[in-house]
Amino acid sequence: MAQLSDDCFAQGGPLMRVDEARRLLSDTIVPVTASEPVALHDALGRILAEDIVSPVDIPPAPNSAVDGYAVFHADLDPDGNTRLPVSGRVTAGQMKLPEATRGSAIRIFTGARLPAGEKGGPDTVMMQEDCEIDGDHVVVRPGIKKGANAREIGEDVKAGSVVLHKGQKLRPQDVGQAAAVGRREVLVSRRLKVGLFSTGDELREPGSDLEPGAIYDSNRYTIHALLTGLGCAVDDLGILPDKFDVVRAALDEARGRHDLLVTSGGVSVGEEDHVKSAVEALGKLHLWRLAVKPGRPIALGQVGRVPFVGLPGNPVAVVVTFLTIVRPLILRLMGGKDAPPHTFRVRAGFDHKKKKDRREWVRAHLVEDASGGLTAEKFPRDGAGILSSLVAADGLIELPEDLTRLEAGAMVEFLPFSEVAQ
Ligand code: AMP
Ligand code: MG
Repeated sequence: MAQLSDDCFAQGGPLMRVDEARRLLSDTIVPVTASEPVALHDALGRILAEDIVSPVDIPPAPNSAVDGYAVFHADLDPDGNTRLPVSGRVTAGQMKLPEATRGSAIRIFTGARLPAGEKGGPDTVMMQEDCEIDGDHVVVRPGIKKGANAREIGEDVKAGSVVLHKGQKLRPQDVGQAAAVGRREVLVSRRLKVGLFSTGDELREPGSDLEPGAIYDSNRYTIHALLTGLGCAVDDLGILPDKFDVVRAALDEARGRHDLLVTSGGVSVGEEDHVKSAVEALGKLHLWRLAVKPGRPIALGQVGRVPFVGLPGNPVAVVVTFLTIVRPLILRLMGGKDAPPHTFRVRAGFDHKKKKDRREWVRAHLVEDASGGLTAEKFPRDGAGILSSLVAADGLIELPEDLTRLEAGAMVEFLPFSEVAQ
């Protein structure tokens, strides 16, 4: 099982800024997964573990971008129509090409190779919509540019160039690019094996009866989905009670089979928060007190030598902490490149006060305003336990540390969930 080598989560100082937390993680976390080959149909969403170099030029030969007539530009009258005999025909995939001669045109179809001929052959293709057929002749209008509608060899990809880079997460078009350069398989990072627990005496499995004081466990399902979306192989290890011995035994047992252990709840400072002490007993634990809202401290550590992430219990804090801090950490463990998600500037539709020196993420949904732009509206209830506020939101507005007052109409950075949660 892959392991971290040293106490990589150690940090000093009381309150850590988000940028500092991200920098520490990106400086200290090393990939823990090996690589494996996968067939292209299984490659979507996986992290590439090799640079893919094209052995071929794409296109492999000059060819036509349209259905039409291949001509020698020098044969065309710049001021009037040119009437040329059609001396041959080429379709896509045709092996044997006709020889083109000056003063003639070749009927050609999209993707068909431009035939050879005098002076390198025809260099320009007239779209058939711009031609008139006159028996076995074609009449070509003036005004076309030399080289129009002719694709050059290697204009898309040059042989020897890197078309996909190690560490990138494969999207549909990336899978297609691998196929376009002739690959049947690609090398990807093995899925990170994550053992997932939730903790709390009040938690019950959805579908069971709820006695007074109990609630259904939602975090385990949220986190399972977030991890799966990142490409992890998640092992759902159920609910742990608030009992030190049980938590400790479960984490100890799970560490041998996983690359990463994740829990939710039980990491704040109450006396029923046993996850913290259980991890301390088995390895190391650091409570990172981040200068953020929402989000309690996040617990980072090692159970033995296996990395450990203790997420908060409050459902909103879970999601926000996961998306902003844990997601880049997991991508790194899987050998992914640090690709910060894109945020978009939108107009704030509300006033908001915030504390200085901490970063705040406000749940918001987007509405189209009269000018066709987007305005972000805030959910009225914003407690860290209000899961329905996340359900109603399209993403998070990111308010920087130095801001203390936001006024409606100001431009803000919006992080859509679609950028970070699949
Ligand atoms: P804790 O951090 O364990 O003190 O939990 C903080 C709050 O989050 C409490 O109100 C818990 O009941 C709630 N909570 C903790 N774990 C879960 C969970 N898995 N699903 C839903 N709510 C939870
Ligand atoms: Mg708890």
